[in-house]
Amino acid sequence: MKTLKIAIQKSGRLNEKSVEILKNCGLSFENYKSSLISTVTNFPLEILFLRDDDIPEYVQDGIADLGIVGENVIVEAGAEVTYLQKLGFGKCTLKIAIPNESNITGIAQLSGKAIATSYPVILEKYLKDNNVDAEVRTISGSVEIGPGLGLSDAICDIVSTGGTLKSNGLKPFSEVMKSEAVLIGKAGSDLLPEVQELLQRIRSVLRAKE
Ligand code: ATP
Ligand code: ZN
Repeated sequence: MKTLKIAIQKSGRLNEKSVEILKNCGLSFENYKSSLISTVTNFPLEILFLRDDDIPEYVQDGIADLGIVGENVIVEAGAEVTYLQKLGFGKCTLKIAIPNESNITGIAQLSGKAIATSYPVILEKYLKDNNVDAEVRTISGSVEIGPGLGLSDAICDIVSTGGTLKSNGLKPFSEVMKSEAVLIGKAGSDLLPEVQELLQRIRSVLRAKE
């Protein structure tokens, strides 16, 4: 039997729920914070603990057979992978937000403006789809401080409760993409029997939660 590899986030917002769903599938493994790889003792599976950004490429290139990662990260990476199952956690929305006092009312008014984001690929596509010619400024984090610093007129970032926007004097303006954690596999290949078995178990765990 082939030993599969599944890549999950090492630490962060998706780690706990990813571990939980695998444990709920009846898989036994040690979950040491320090280890980068863990062997499942009762299924032919190894778990790789990675930064979420690396997961789409690992699966695309076949280094891992499966991965659990946010759709936002997959789309931003431009990775070609197959979506096997939405997992119902890690839900969030990528939104454009503007300063509270901004007089921008329609999306066309973003033309000629600067928008700060950590998601340039997703944002560029959204702007193109909406015929908006804005300048995308890529920064890796703390995007919300952009307008306050005069770096940008608007931002595009992940919003869940809106608390971070509020405390930075920003208000949501338009929705760019909804995202949740998904189970992904290699594109264009038949599912191995072990993958089918695992997928079935994951689906019954999800059904039991409904
Ligand atoms: P890593 O160290 O693995 O690179 P990270 O800092 O990039 O982690 P996290 O903040 O742990 O990422 O978020 C992981 C994923 O959780 C996001 O890509 C997104 O899909 C999802 N998510 C859900 N809610 C939120 C939120 N409020 N803010 C950011 N991400 C969220
Ligand atoms: Zn990341």
